[in-house]
Amino acid sequence: MEEKELLKLSPKELIDLGVCPTCLNRKYHGAIYGDDTDKRLYRDEDIEILFVGNPRAAGHLAILSVPHYRDMAEAPDELNAKIVRYAKYLMNLLPEVYGCERVYLCTMCDGPANHYHVQLIPRYAGEERGSKNFVKPRGEFVSDPVRTERLRAALKAFARDGSSE
Ligand SMILES: [Zn+2]
Repeated sequence: MEEKELLKLSPKELIDLGVCPTCLNRKYHGAIYGDDTDKRLYRDEDIEILFVGNPRAAGHLAILSVPHYRDMAEAPDELNAKIVRYAKYLMNLLPEVYGCERVYLCTMCDGPANHYHVQLIPRYAGEERGSKNFVKPRGEFVSDPVRTERLRAALKAFARDGSSE
């Protein structure tokens, strides 16, 4: 199949064929997942941080490896360490910015060609604690420019100084 033909397939179909939708999307500037300018929070040569397009809670984020690895088990330790450092930072920041009580971390990259990422899912007051938070119903992403700018500025400072000051 020609590469451009692949752009008509769903992410699941691509993964089943052994084609990474994340890498294809990047190569063709959003051809799979659409314009994600409003979801982008941070990017450098190693990682990118985005709002999830079909979130399970307000403030649901993903941290992705920029190079393709199938999961944490395949990625270099330095990259995994960096992802954990940013995850920790965001687990402290999201309750401040979104008012959630806790932030859950999960990573589950499966199939022949998934792209290594971890997810941060907020749990809010009144939501039951525990693993049900990983499978809360998905909703539409709603842009929140004020909170988005706060996260962008904080991540920029963290990347520069290793702190939010
Ligand atoms: Zn990939």
